[in-house]
Amino acid sequence: MNVLVINCGSSSLKYQLIDMSNEEVKAKGLVERIGIEGSRIKHETIGKEKETIETPMKDHKIALELVMDSLTNEDYGAIKSLDEISAVGHRVVHGGEDFAQSVIIDDKVLKAIEDNVEIAPLHNPPNIMGIKACQKLLPNVKQVAVFDTAFHQTMPAESYIYALPYEYYEKYRIRRYGFHGTSHKYITNRAAEMLGKDVNEVNLITCHLGNGSSICAVENGKSIDTSMGFTPLEGLAMGTRCGDLDPAILPFLMEKENLSPDEINNVINKKSGVLRISGVSSDFRDIEAARDEGNERAALALNIFEKRVRGYIGNYFTELDHVDGIVFTAGVGENSIEMRESICAGLKSLGIEIDKERNNVRGEDKLISSDNSKVKVFVIPTNEELMIARDTKELVEA
Ligand code: AMP
Repeated sequence: MNVLVINCGSSSLKYQLIDMSNEEVKAKGLVERIGIEGSRIKHETIGKEKETIETPMKDHKIALELVMDSLTNEDYGAIKSLDEISAVGHRVVHGGEDFAQSVIIDDKVLKAIEDNVEIAPLHNPPNIMGIKACQKLLPNVKQVAVFDTAFHQTMPAESYIYALPYEYYEKYRIRRYGFHGTSHKYITNRAAEMLGKDVNEVNLITCHLGNGSSICAVENGKSIDTSMGFTPLEGLAMGTRCGDLDPAILPFLMEKENLSPDEINNVINKKSGVLRISGVSSDFRDIEAARDEGNERAALALNIFEKRVRGYIGNYFTELDHVDGIVFTAGVGENSIEMRESICAGLKSLGIEIDKERNNVRGEDKLISSDNSKVKVFVIPTNEELMIARDTKELVEA
């Protein structure tokens, strides 16, 4: 069974064709600059030459047509015809309170995803475009929606209600939703395997540290708290997002700098974070390099990032009666040896100790804590596409 996994952004589209008989990727690719000048598709069928095609793509439907053409291309494709695609799994960012699990998409589901545009105006519209385009191109193939928010729907009210007037929750659905759920779920399952425990019996603190970052407290395999909130802005300092702030700063700045709601939103989402603390870059590799050359603001940005990671880990220790493991994943978590070492160096009071040699690892599943550490620490590269494909297969076969 081949599952096509689709992740649509506003001007980009990532895809993978996964053979579920062995969970191996057959082909993958990226379409960039959809609807803007210079659109291109980069396609790779595993074992064949990579292909890049530049051609105008005015919308996601045209982009997906090109994806289908590439997948079935005689020379560089992966399958002979579209009949070999058994199901499509879509990453959908916001399922609101409607979806605690992945679902097969029908009219009712599509309507619910559309209803959530109000609380996810940046993210859900491209996801919806991708779903609609696939429905047209593959009318007889089942489509599944896998939500970034679903894993966190198990949070108790004390984790998701803000200390705002309660009626705002009722009127506007303002609450913590949490994101990166597919990633937190994937590493939770994998950590349970590595611990030799049933997933329903593991307590973890999972750290997805990338360009966007979030931390999750997992009790008996379920999310009970997470650092992202109503939107993917809350919590850690990120590449370009500010994370936690005193909310009074926002009206103050709006007044001082004469900023509209849209403009302040742009500042806190795209012009903040380690990018604007360091003044160097939003890319952690560049910031680490600048710090190593003595750039003090780069050092400050990294110190702030690490301090907040430790703060959330410490916080979640108080929510769990024991912790079986801490897991690092995503671009920074999987690859930055120094970052993991320095985060964990500040967790000694919790009995956490990294083994320097074990920690000398990038992008592979590994235990990195020392034998003396009271809590096991793992690196587990995330695989959201595989998680989406697994959910899709399970639902389609059920
Ligand atoms: P993601 O959003 O998961 O793709 O992660 C992207 C982030 O991971 C970028 O800020 C990269 O700089 C960071 N990253 C990737 N590789 C490394 C590395 N070897 N050391 C530090 N950061 C890295």
